[in-house]
Amino acid sequence: MIDLVIIGAGPGGFDTAINASEHGLEVTLIERHKVGGTCLNYGCIPTKALYHNAKHIKDLKDIDTFGINVLEYDVDYDIVKERKETIVSNQIRNIQTSLKKLGVTLIEGEGKILSASEVEVNGEIIETKNIIIATGSKPSMISFEGSDLEVVHNSKDILSLSTWPKNMVIVGAGVIGCEMASIFNQFGSNITLVEYQDEILPPLDKDIKKRARNLYKRQGIDIYTKSAFKKVELVEDKYIVTIEQKGKVKEFETDYVLMSTGRSPNFGNIDLDSLGIEYNKQGITVDEFKETSVKNIYAIGDVNGELMLAHKATYDGYKVVSHILGKEMDIKFDQVPSVVFTFPEIAIVGKTEDELDGTNYRTNKFLFKTNAKAECLNETDGFVKMIVDESDVLVGCHIIGAHASDLIHEATSMIYKNININEYKNIIHAHPTISEVLSECIKGFH
Ligand code: FAD
Repeated sequence: MIDLVIIGAGPGGFDTAINASEHGLEVTLIERHKVGGTCLNYGCIPTKALYHNAKHIKDLKDIDTFGINVLEYDVDYDIVKERKETIVSNQIRNIQTSLKKLGVTLIEGEGKILSASEVEVNGEIIETKNIIIATGSKPSMISFEGSDLEVVHNSKDILSLSTWPKNMVIVGAGVIGCEMASIFNQFGSNITLVEYQDEILPPLDKDIKKRARNLYKRQGIDIYTKSAFKKVELVEDKYIVTIEQKGKVKEFETDYVLMSTGRSPNFGNIDLDSLGIEYNKQGITVDEFKETSVKNIYAIGDVNGELMLAHKATYDGYKVVSHILGKEMDIKFDQVPSVVFTFPEIAIVGKTEDELDGTNYRTNKFLFKTNAKAECLNETDGFVKMIVDESDVLVGCHIIGAHASDLIHEATSMIYKNININEYKNIIHAHPTISEVLSECIKGFH
């Protein structure tokens, strides 16, 4: 009997296999499609590869600010695609090498749980002390007229485009919708972003959302909030999208419709009912140790529906391994940083003002335009907003601006350590760096 079988080799599964093996457990990892899962093959990594192409295009558009003349530039999308694919295959190889080095058994096939100690794959039964379900998620589609037309796509399809479309309607202005809008807008697509709720990026801090919307609009993205997407039709030889905003019907001609209306858990054909594993439409129900209602069967990452982010999946797995080993890690799952890779980047951690409503909190903001390094970079859009509780302990940090994706980790550490702002004020930040937006923001609390 081995120690652990993991079903699904996304960032939850493969990172956990590595971690468990490093801690001396005997591990088998089962993957039915591609090592790396959604994140590496159809999510985080290919989108960020494209994001950096888009960032270079954006920088070229502003290059005259630096006194440099680039009269003409051209984008070869074949090379863009090839670069993206090379990054993905290099990363897959790195994972396979690590798994092999650590002695993790990797099996290609669909894992099926027979009981809390038996998993079947390719007709063979593996006996195990523990099982982790890490089967991820899939795009959730809403039903609408025209959903079967060839112009309608999801976030996986868009990554295999052979060039960027001229006109694109994106339905859903969550993280994926906004990232795709920002990327393809820089390539040259005319983007119409349609969101049912009052504002784009619904769960984010209210000031961040507002600023993001203004900046995206300034970049040329058309945004329709409080708008219901109705249908897509082929009229003569043109695709027409219909939306309804405040009772008014609007129509757009389009070449591409990207549905980014959320993701739902993928139970991977595992018969949860017969095993007695509790779940709902958000995902498999787990306790604080990520254990399901059946002892020794755990569910990590997107499939437990708590927060669909790659690093959350990974840390779920670390939590499970530490639990199996009886060396509990103190991971704070209410402090998971998250990033939106648009122009500029957005990064958040901890509480929003809405969540703190009714408590005695204070906020302070600091603008990137007063930071010298940001001005040198010509990236002065944005601000950092910090929130402290009644004991002056940092509880939330919301950043929209250059390098937000890296800056957020300083705030994450501070929140984890319950740092009081007066203690934070003692920490020296080098000059001139973007990180000074954080120290300046903290100094602003009196
Ligand atoms: P997955 O990565 O989905 O992996 C699950 C694996 O399980 C798959 O490989 C699947 O084939 C396999 N599987 C399923 N059933 C079985 C079975 N029965 N037997 C064997 N194998 C099985 N997150 C971020 O943190 N940052 C980002 O920048 C980011 N960008 C994203 C961009 C896009 C376009 C998308 C779609 C997602 C993005 N995400 C991002 C989310 C991130 O991809 C997911 O949170 C992450 O992949 C979840 O990891 P996981 O291990 O839970 O599942």
